[in-house]
Amino acid sequence: MLKKLASVSSPLITHTAVTCPFCGLLCDDLAIAVSDTQLTVTQNGCPKASAAFRAADVPGPPLINGQPATLNAALDAAARILKRSQQPLFAGLGTDVAGMRALLALAEPCHAIVDHLHGATMARQVRVLQSRGLTTTTLAEVRNRADLVVLLGVDIQADFPRFAEICLTPAESLAPERLATRRVFQVGPTASKPPKTGARMERVTCAASELRETLSALRAELRGRPHRAAGRIRTGVILLAQAIRAAHYTVFVWAPGAFAALDGDLIIGSACELIAEINRDRRAAGLALGGNDGGQTALAVCTWITGYPLQVSFVGATLDFDPLRYQTTRLLADDAVDALLWLSTFSSQPAPATHVPRIVIGNAASTLVAPNSVFLPAGTPGLDHTGQLVRTDAVVTLPLQRLRETGTSSAATLLLELARRAR
Ligand code: SF4
Repeated sequence: MLKKLASVSSPLITHTAVTCPFCGLLCDDLAIAVSDTQLTVTQNGCPKASAAFRAADVPGPPLINGQPATLNAALDAAARILKRSQQPLFAGLGTDVAGMRALLALAEPCHAIVDHLHGATMARQVRVLQSRGLTTTTLAEVRNRADLVVLLGVDIQADFPRFAEICLTPAESLAPERLATRRVFQVGPTASKPPKTGARMERVTCAASELRETLSALRAELRGRPHRAAGRIRTGVILLAQAIRAAHYTVFVWAPGAFAALDGDLIIGSACELIAEINRDRRAAGLALGGNDGGQTALAVCTWITGYPLQVSFVGATLDFDPLRYQTTRLLADDAVDALLWLSTFSSQPAPATHVPRIVIGNAASTLVAPNSVFLPAGTPGLDHTGQLVRTDAVVTLPLQRLRETGTSSAATLLLELARRAR
């Protein structure tokens, strides 16, 4: 919806019901004021969204080796890099559904390997899903049905600032009795700032490195078996076990990106075993928060199209999926690729440093001024062009509006044109 506010010198346009693309929650109720190309959140934002919309500058001209060029010349230069490459890496993948579809259409003829900026952390969840199975739920289920929510090592206030408002203490719920009796536990280190849940937070305070042992103690406590938890962890575990026994529907919430690399699979796996056990005589599920920078979208589109999640290779005669081998940092460190295409339209994460030729398709913050490189400016979905993104719980694809007129091409348009020229 679009409303014009009268002003003689600087017309101000306010868009409402805007979907925010800056974290996996994809809140869709923001109001954004637009003055020229400057975007300001006026309603329902959070500090993260306000900063991201404010910082969303319009990218400058295309660059070849750091020097301004026409779009035509830059596309030709990028196509030449891809034609010469035997095994390029397509990474970053900060884009929307159309951008990801176009990227995969280019990856196949270019024999590329495909990974996302958050591919390594998202792979933890995928590995547990593949090896043990996983009962997950949605934001709507947490909001409406859960009467016990356990935040597992996730700092929602810092990383998913409106999760509390949307899911823990919403203004309305389909099951008001569940909302009225909802209890919220935080298990793990004390958050950077206390979540503004409005609900009383109960804590099982432990170090991040003690999360897995704490979950094991909780499982033993629920079974009535002895465990080695001591002190305040023991007290918290006993209290949480009592709360789980009393609850109709417990949801464990975690963020794979918050766990240390070696512990991630084990903590998620422990949570899954706990959930399976609780489900024997009552209801429980898990919810992973993440998928930022188009991560959930990249994972979903790659799965729809190839049958595999991210970290796939189009190099051989058949598709190859290997979440350990096809990680961006590993491939670059091992000199296993001979070109890098970095796609980044949401974040300010720069393209990784490497000696191989780089093509960056991205926003102003990802502008690459460097030798042996091509920069193709692209709009941010939801700001500069319409599009769709998949939400963190993977059950909803939300539409994105165009908020301002910048004339910047979408990543999908640039990738389709590259595919035509790189043939
Ligand atoms: S919580 Fe996430 S999606 Fe919602 S407004 Fe903040 S940054 Fe945007």
